[in-house]
Amino acid sequence: MNSRAAPLLAGALLIALAGGLVDWRPVSERRPNVLLISIDTLRADHLGYDGYARDTSPNLDRLAARSRRYREAWAPAPWTLPSHAGLLTGRHPRALGIEDRDAALPENAPSLASSLRRAGYRTAAFVDSMPRGFVGGERGFGRGFETYVHLPAESASDFRYDAAITVERAATWLAHTRRDRPFFLFLHTKSVHALPAGAGGDDPRAFPYDKPEPWRSRYLSAAGAELSWDDAALGRGVGWLRGWNEAVAAGEQDPTALSPTRRKALEALYDAGIRYVDHQIARLLDSLESHGFADDTIIVVTADHGEAFVEHDLLLHKELYRDVLRVPLLVYMPWEAEGRDVRSRVTLMDVAPTILRAVDAPIPPEVSGRVLPEADRAPSEAEPLFTYYRSWPDGYYEAYGVREGTRSLIHHRLGRGAPFRSEWFDLAADPAEQHPLPAGSDAQSGALLAQLRAWMETGANGARSSIELDAETRRHLEALGYGQ
Ligand SMILES: [Zn+2]
Repeated sequence: MNSRAAPLLAGALLIALAGGLVDWRPVSERRPNVLLISIDTLRADHLGYDGYARDTSPNLDRLAARSRRYREAWAPAPWTLPSHAGLLTGRHPRALGIEDRDAALPENAPSLASSLRRAGYRTAAFVDSMPRGFVGGERGFGRGFETYVHLPAESASDFRYDAAITVERAATWLAHTRRDRPFFLFLHTKSVHALPAGAGGDDPRAFPYDKPEPWRSRYLSAAGAELSWDDAALGRGVGWLRGWNEAVAAGEQDPTALSPTRRKALEALYDAGIRYVDHQIARLLDSLESHGFADDTIIVVTADHGEAFVEHDLLLHKELYRDVLRVPLLVYMPWEAEGRDVRSRVTLMDVAPTILRAVDAPIPPEVSGRVLPEADRAPSEAEPLFTYYRSWPDGYYEAYGVREGTRSLIHHRLGRGAPFRSEWFDLAADPAEQHPLPAGSDAQSGALLAQLRAWMETGANGARSSIELDAETRRHLEALGYGQ
């Protein structure tokens, strides 16, 4: 069935031989396929290969053993829309004008899918998003994709996303895809994210990270299973998490007062989602193998941001600390003999140019990400990473951050109308960012603060694009915790 016709290969090899310009290693008679998986809300340190104590990720760990493991991979922002913009364009999302929840990708933004399609790829995406949601086709993410499927189906009224369905749809596409061209398959799953209770929503416990059984209870202690997540003041289920954040921001809730039982239960429910997604991703990788794609498919697994459990002030994902911004990044190149750790700081914007370079397709000049290093870079090659979170108008949290070398500086305000305050961290002494130092008190942090302020003033571009949010999308985003 697989003709393995190689017109692309002939051209690419001739260019490579004639010009000696590219370091392209063909693994078959044509360009490799590309599978890009984004696991929404997956923090790196809850995975086995990253040292987590629970068995959350046996299948991802197996892939990690054969992959480049970027141990310091960072998102540019702590929420879905800007991080996916960075991932799928290779450009910093703030430079694309993406700050608010109605922002869309501008027409002229570079697009990984478009670049691959121009290079002869068949392009398809299966995403856990409404069409106008944060990874929606109507936000501009559909550009360059021949197939862009929003899950659950547009007509579904139950918003509980399910990796089993998303993977099933992607695997079915894989089984039926013609082999005349290489493919680029993008899969985005929201099953780790806090989700409103789906079927069984009458349960008074209304778990904020709702997963099908037996997964949901996998790590939950008896005490944790009995907790109520329905509170008159805070809210119910995911609403409880949002209510917690708002109460902390309003000064009505002491963040240190989250009980250890409740915190452990939240992490147990969250970890159950990781294990569930790990199981589903394994099905997709099995499908890749059973259809004969395993030897010529580049596999990239990453996440758009992590999740906080009040390591600082908040739950969900808003703050710019390590818990929320450091993400997993696995890059499996089938021609590389063995896996390895790479510890230089890299970003989600580096993924698109890396894929394009690996398949010998041109990298658009607007791309600001750098091709991922195969081994650690020299410290002198490090670049600062700017990060940001701008809450919706009248929102309770706004933050800007910069990481450079072993220093991190966060300039933020918590609470409506609250003044900004700056914290800086010496990451060599305090990698978990638990002991903030007053910024500006010394030359080192003063220079970093000046650099951040300059970026805050010049970073966003004026030509931002936006999309009108219909009532259903708005309600849906609020149900996911994106209230304010
Ligand atoms: Zn997200």
